[in-house]
Amino acid sequence: MQNKKIIISAITLVSMALILGNGYFYVLLAQQLASSQETLTGTLALFQDRVHDLETKLSNEKNDKAVLSNLLSSEKSKNEYFAQQISGIQGTVNILEKLSKTDKELLQKYSKVYFLNEHYIPENLSVIDKNDTYNKTEIYQIHTKVQPYLYQMLRAASSSNVSMETVSAYRSFGEQASLKLGYKIIYGSGANQFSADQGFSEHQLGTTVDLTTKDNVPFSKFESTQAYKWLQENAHRFGFVLSYPKNNQYYVFEPWHWRFVGIKLATELYNRKIYFYGIDQREIDSYLISIFD
Ligand SMILES: [Zn+2]
Repeated sequence: MQNKKIIISAITLVSMALILGNGYFYVLLAQQLASSQETLTGTLALFQDRVHDLETKLSNEKNDKAVLSNLLSSEKSKNEYFAQQISGIQGTVNILEKLSKTDKELLQKYSKVYFLNEHYIPENLSVIDKNDTYNKTEIYQIHTKVQPYLYQMLRAASSSNVSMETVSAYRSFGEQASLKLGYKIIYGSGANQFSADQGFSEHQLGTTVDLTTKDNVPFSKFESTQAYKWLQENAHRFGFVLSYPKNNQYYVFEPWHWRFVGIKLATELYNRKIYFYGIDQREIDSYLISIFD
């Protein structure tokens, strides 16, 4: 009985010790937990601060980027503007350069008021092939840049069974003066009627030809030839125009006398059914830039 008591007491004591021990353990655990929570809260706060900092930085970076991007696009449009300006200026310079190299006399109207200077000589002259000239022993010259247009025109006519020859082309001031003198001797003062200064100036330019047929009809009959008919319909395609058409108010009718003014102007005159001396010099001048295009 005594032993039983002892055993119970021992068990009780051990149980109590165990309970007390566990309690102490729990207290320790709770303390540790609280301390961990504190640490975590601190760390969390640090992280939150850090995140906030980063967010602020990111938003600043974004703003900076937007500013830079605006700057870049504004610089780009400035550059584009300058590029356009430069290309515009370059275009103008090119036009001016081309114009400065183009002989202004080439599209000048000549009259009793405005003559070509007696010392005027075309920039370059080329000899016309003998197959295309009337007198095979004579040398006919034409403005070098007009020569290919003349050849193309004569070839085109020939392929339409209309053959033509050049009977007069470039004439110097001296040659013209003696020619005119000759006419005067034959026709007296009437010579001014068909060999006056307008036609003369055009031949001195080197861009003008008098044409005849292979069987050499006289000038007075040229009007009724197939050649004249063909020229009226086609010469503009090669840049040539009839300077003095029938019933014009400036000069006698010269169906054989064809002046090169460039395809663009010749076509314009053809389409509008007007003639070179019938339009304003200022309008003619606008075609100078494209005379050899
Ligand atoms: Zn002529």
